Amino acid sequence: MALLQISEPGMSPEPHKKNVAIGIDLGTTNSLVATVKSGTATILGNQGHDGLVPSVVYYKDGNILVGEEALKNRVIDPANTILSIKRFMGHNFSDLDKSLASPYKFVNKDGIIEIETSNGVKNPIQISSDILQYLKQIAIENMGESPAGAVITVPAYFNESQRQATKHAAQLAGLNVLRLLNEPTAAAIAYGLDTKNQGTFLVYDLGGGTLDVSILKLHSGVFEVLAVNGDTHLGGDDFDHLLYCYILEKSNLSHLTDEDIAHLLNTAKQVKEDLTLKEKVSFSIVLSAQRLVNLLITREEFGRVTRGLVNKAILPVKKALRDAKLDITEINEVVLVGGSTRMLNIRLELSNMFKRELLTNIDPDKVVAIGAAIQADVLIGNRKDDWLLLDVTPLSLGLETVGSIVEKIIPRNSTIPVTRAQTFTTYKDGQTAMSIHVVQGERELVSDCRSLAKFSLRGIPPMVAGNARIQVVFQIDADGLLSVSAIEESTGIASSIEVQPSFGLTPDEISSMLSSSIDFAQSDILARQLSEAVIDATALINSVESAIVDDRDLITDNELIEIKYLVDSLNIKFVQNEAVEIKTSAIKDLSDKLNKATQGFANKRMDRAIKHGLSGRSIDTL
Ligand code: ADP
Ligand code: MG
Repeated sequence: MALLQISEPGMSPEPHKKNVAIGIDLGTTNSLVATVKSGTATILGNQGHDGLVPSVVYYKDGNILVGEEALKNRVIDPANTILSIKRFMGHNFSDLDKSLASPYKFVNKDGIIEIETSNGVKNPIQISSDILQYLKQIAIENMGESPAGAVITVPAYFNESQRQATKHAAQLAGLNVLRLLNEPTAAAIAYGLDTKNQGTFLVYDLGGGTLDVSILKLHSGVFEVLAVNGDTHLGGDDFDHLLYCYILEKSNLSHLTDEDIAHLLNTAKQVKEDLTLKEKVSFSIVLSAQRLVNLLITREEFGRVTRGLVNKAILPVKKALRDAKLDITEINEVVLVGGSTRMLNIRLELSNMFKRELLTNIDPDKVVAIGAAIQADVLIGNRKDDWLLLDVTPLSLGLETVGSIVEKIIPRNSTIPVTRAQTFTTYKDGQTAMSIHVVQGERELVSDCRSLAKFSLRGIPPMVAGNARIQVVFQIDADGLLSVSAIEESTGIASSIEVQPSFGLTPDEISSMLSSSIDFAQSDILARQLSEAVIDATALINSVESAIVDDRDLITDNELIEIKYLVDSLNIKFVQNEAVEIKTSAIKDLSDKLNKATQGFANKRMDRAIKHGLSGRSIDTL
């Protein structure tokens, strides 16, 4: 993503032919497709609509309906009308919240979520792909040709598997994915913020069912994600629901049928949207048993009823600012994204908070698709001043080393694409396999980070501990997808894995992972020191013990007694339960003593080694 001015060779356009590329906002509630026409990014509409396609798919008797047409079946056939599929992308069956009521028949297919429909079982990738295919069709109808490439947006907090799933869905829909782009970055691009020299921007995205707050920092042409926060269960739907309850109360309604409820919820949504433009809205609808509901609702009433939700919707802004350690005055621009930021009470609350004008002149529900279209136009090579947007990784990636310590390979906020390599060695003599455990997070210990993948490198020739050279390469491509490979340099034996982690992370989880790394920094360092002391001491014990086996005759009985005593004391210390700092210094102290106690023995071994004309292998091990 953004904004390093890099020219990409071979991507410049032919002189007269423009390649058409599209940007797609694949939203939880609504999706859109846009393209750059004559230098301007435009939303592509479908059959007289404004381009907003409800992210809904209806499966029936072998037919597939998408968008408005699909949504109509929500009440009469809820099990086959799939809404909000984005919530399930890249998630495992075990991630499903079974406590939430759902009209869908979920199926556990080898740990993967599938939904049984009248057209057979469908997984979230297939369902998203049906939405994407529909958007692609809108693009073809508008442009008269198939798009050469597409940029698809994803939430900034999407993890590897959610990104991977999105990319697969697009490929399944026959789209050439130029890049996945973070939604807040797309919004910033739509406002041209990427062309500034630097700045700190807050992107506030309140959609149909989710709230995402991102703080982006632009410097040297790169957007860095300073903080993400939000609420995965707060959006326009909740405002509709409160207004619906208010209508029930005001009209004294009870004993409603499913159709009545759906009708009233739709009405509530319409009233809410109309109140954005009008001071008061009246409506008149007929429910079952010929019941007539006639009502007038004012903006003031709506504001009163939804006061609590507005407060809730502001909280993540405060948390994000706190996590980024920023004062409100340090935010240079506030970008509003998502249909629900049209609500005046939300706008008022935000402008009071920031005491400044908010960026709202691009339709908030279209701004992400517009930014994606601009980026797609650049990537396909339609701009002379070819530049590429660079993104950054939200969390550090690393691997587990001895003692369950995380060695960070790609630190958080590295710009992507990125490749980092590090060389590791074996820990034990004769070790022929190495298991590589890839983790994500900011903490020092593996148990505090998130496990992404495990694989092993086998066939390492047996060598003395520390002699093998295993190069581990972490590579994140432009879409934020990680692959890890390992190669033993002397033999060329290699192994690799494309990382597809099994759990989704919510923005809350990411921010808590970030803030806990700060909160726990001190205790993490202590834990790391202890772990390192244990590793060093264990290595020392191993080498002393194998030296004794090799050269028992060089050691006196008294020396042996002392060595044994120190080794036993260390082994006891390892499992003793006491304060981390005390334990660490005791282990270091005993290790020093063991080193001193074996000094004479080591010297004699060295003499023998020299006499035998051997290299210093056994000296190294002492
Ligand atoms: P998502 O990103 O979740 O796919 P959108 O950004 O399209 O969703 O936002 C959809 C939400 O925006 C819906 O709850 C809808 O009612 C709300 N919305 C759209 N227009 C208005 C409006 N004029 N006033 C208030 N809310 C609106
Ligand atoms: Mg959205």
